Amino acid sequence: MRKYFKKLPLELKEIISQAAKVSQEIQMPAYLVGGCLRDLILGVKNFDLDITVEGDGIIFAQHLARKLKSRLKIYVRFGTATLILNDRLKVDIATTRQEKYPYSAALPVVSSGSLKEDLKRRDFTINALALSLVADKQQKIIDPFGARADLALGRIRILHNLSFKDDPTRILRAIRFSQRLDFKIEPKTLALLKEAISAGALDKVNPHRMRDELILILKEQNPFGPIKQLGDLGALSFISTKLKIGKSTQGLFKSITKQINWFVKNFPARRQLDSWLVYFAALLETFTLPEIKVIICRLGLPKGDQKRVISYYQERDKLISSLSKKRRLPEQIFSLLEPLSYETIILLGAVSQNKNLKKHLADFLEIYNGMRLCICGDDLRGLGVLPGKEYQMIFAKVLAAKLNGQVRNRQAELALIRKLLQANK
Ligand code: ATP
Repeated sequence: MRKYFKKLPLELKEIISQAAKVSQEIQMPAYLVGGCLRDLILGVKNFDLDITVEGDGIIFAQHLARKLKSRLKIYVRFGTATLILNDRLKVDIATTRQEKYPYSAALPVVSSGSLKEDLKRRDFTINALALSLVADKQQKIIDPFGARADLALGRIRILHNLSFKDDPTRILRAIRFSQRLDFKIEPKTLALLKEAISAGALDKVNPHRMRDELILILKEQNPFGPIKQLGDLGALSFISTKLKIGKSTQGLFKSITKQINWFVKNFPARRQLDSWLVYFAALLETFTLPEIKVIICRLGLPKGDQKRVISYYQERDKLISSLSKKRRLPEQIFSLLEPLSYETIILLGAVSQNKNLKKHLADFLEIYNGMRLCICGDDLRGLGVLPGKEYQMIFAKVLAAKLNGQVRNRQAELALIRKLLQANK
């Protein structure tokens, strides 16, 4: 197995080697588990390491964080911890545990358990394997459920017949992994998945948990594939029973991907886009605003995300009609787009194929976005203007001149204010 480690980026090798030292020093056997091991075997890059510890995951995490000088977040309630090394590299650490579901779709009752029990609680065979961090001559992958055979055959398989009923979010996970890895869902697993959907298993889950799995799907490289498959299976009713995934959704998703790629390529210094939110908002295209408000509230979307979705649907028609006109002043473009999020702007550009609109969006992002005046209220007071209506009027005029390229620096802004004051006398 060491051969797999050889392929890892240097920074991951260093973490694994330090974790192995901690494991020996504090005498707690620790294992690499789950998705990171799956991806290691498949040769897929994965910067999220999962470590499970026989002993106490939190104590282990504290030792490792000290060694790596990394940030540490502890979740006492779950007995887990996360080491954050940088924005793309994190290590999740847990104690080996077993889980029992008191009834279908309930949150599991967790108690400590052996490594084997920890692997048994997992979603699919391909995620239920472990590798001891401490190398010895006998080093072998611990694979009690045939994960390696399924990885070789490209097969998604659950570990027991009640898996989807215990935790119906696994239905979404099965589709996500099968689409991402281009794996087939093994026939018996597929039959149980369909049976769970028909039995209404998804309606029993807390919608917030469904939302989290939906977001993971929408973060995939190609989210349309899993969304379409879930739609065909009737597994999106937790969003709305009226939701239809057809050709128009496919076209819109394609157009969004193009728009996102354009944004990322041309504006690399801007904040990272929440691409999933653009796709999510697009799913709601055929709903009315009141319906959308009900859906996003039921899914418990965080307030900031709700605001971005609602502002798009509130403003869409006005924006499309105004920005589709050829002649728009920079100040008009600025006042329409500056209050909006990048996600809203991306969706607007994806929904409309109007050339004028696309040009105005590009101009906004290239030239006007974030433009601010150099002068402030103190400058106006210094020139004898008292706070009030005149203030706002002057600011608006100077900003318009700046957007039009007529003033370029503080001196020019002040000169324009003096001119305006002179003319108003
Ligand atoms: P990704 O590659 O998308 O990050 P992952 O396999 O690493 O996927 P996570 O959601 O990070 O998945 O979860 C880590 C591990 O926890 C999984 O590999 C799996 O073993 C286990 N797991 C996660 N969710 C479930 C679930 N609903 N039921 C059972 N096991 C789960």
